[in-house]
Amino acid sequence: MKKNVLIIGAGGVAQVVAHKCAQHNDVLGDLHIASRTKSKCDDIIASVREKGAMKVAGTFEAHALDAKDSGAVADLIRKTGCQIVINVGTPYVNMSVLDACIATGVAYMDTAIHEEPDKICETPPWYANYEWKKREACEKAGVTAILGVGFDPGVVNAYARLAEDQFLDTISEIDIVDINAGSHGKYFATNFDPEINFREFTGTVYSWQGGEWRENKMFEVGKEWDLPVVGKQKAYMSGHDEVHSLSQRYKDADVRFWMGFGDHYINVFTVLKSIGLLSEQPVTTAEGLEVVPLKVVKAVLPDPASLAPGYTGKTCIGDLVKGTKDGKPAEVFIYNVADHKEAFNEVGSQGISYTAGVPPVAAAILIANGTWDVKKMANVEDLDPKPFISVLNRIGLPTRVKDAAGDRAVDFG
Ligand code: NDP
Repeated sequence: MKKNVLIIGAGGVAQVVAHKCAQHNDVLGDLHIASRTKSKCDDIIASVREKGAMKVAGTFEAHALDAKDSGAVADLIRKTGCQIVINVGTPYVNMSVLDACIATGVAYMDTAIHEEPDKICETPPWYANYEWKKREACEKAGVTAILGVGFDPGVVNAYARLAEDQFLDTISEIDIVDINAGSHGKYFATNFDPEINFREFTGTVYSWQGGEWRENKMFEVGKEWDLPVVGKQKAYMSGHDEVHSLSQRYKDADVRFWMGFGDHYINVFTVLKSIGLLSEQPVTTAEGLEVVPLKVVKAVLPDPASLAPGYTGKTCIGDLVKGTKDGKPAEVFIYNVADHKEAFNEVGSQGISYTAGVPPVAAAILIANGTWDVKKMANVEDLDPKPFISVLNRIGLPTRVKDAAGDRAVDFG
């Protein structure tokens, strides 16, 4: 059994990961959290202790770490004896953390694709630019590396695989729809790191359709969806990590990602982008100060973690998968509904951080007990989704299915 977990990052998602690991420390063992700013790690541990979240008495220690320094990450892994690393730091540190896991032979996971600060929207499929180049190294070292195991990417990849395994014989379309029908009460804020959030929407929108990559602009293709609990909502085709792995497994299917946006978000985004404030390229002010406009915007917007106390409403994220069953056309919507306030009451975070932070802990539990300890690199759809969905059901993110037979909970014991 693999034990002892190192969490990297101390943002909104790390807060959830820390609380959930603490709730399952009987299985996961000693816990460590490391980030650039150690005081943020201390605050997270204090909130875990305040809630009495540790299931059994045990270690939970904070460390200062520059995760871009692969050697420093490897040293910390050795010092703490951690066998599982949950990387929920900025996506800029993925490759240095993965390299450290390969060097030390411990399990790795993240919740977003690697990014280089000065590059936006590289050539598809995105995973081939960085992560998949390390496939052989992982296999050689016997390292389990699970990529993109948040909610989207993550659980939605498992939902696609569940549709393949349980509900359909052939798959022709996978539409992933992410609706946040919550309200944070601020004039404008993003639900996770503004820099990463905007970077998602300033590049080309890649989708996989008709067996090839299609290119669109953000907000060019919109559609109204009618989803359980959140009702009718407008969502726009967006570029997203999971399209870049699912398109490889489901080559004959159309794979698209849709994200819900209100008109207000679109207006503010359009103004910021049009006047150059979302650029990742540095500019020099008249005073000779070099600044990256996107980083300035991030610095003046609310910290996503600060939205949690006042956030109300629900999210609905799921996969509409179409194909055939027994020779007839069939479709299934596999989804989860999460509640911002419930998330805050339980772990002190808003619903977006909650849906992203619970899945890597479910994956850690499955690595610890051997079920998902595959000793190679995997995207979530490469793995059996049933044990994952069962753990998620138990630890806070229940899955439901809506098809011709009705709308119901699913579980696999
Ligand atoms: P935050 O910006 O709140 O947190 C990022 C953390 O990374 C911060 O604590 C920051 O440290 C830390 N960090 C940055 N650089 C370094 C470094 N060089 N060394 C060590 N730590 C560093 O982000 P979130 O918590 O909202 O998101 C975390 C991850 O989850 C991101 O990759 C995001 O894209 C992903 N995500 C995935 C989702 C999914 O469903 N798959 C949904 C939402 C987010 P410090 O605070 O000290 O500056």
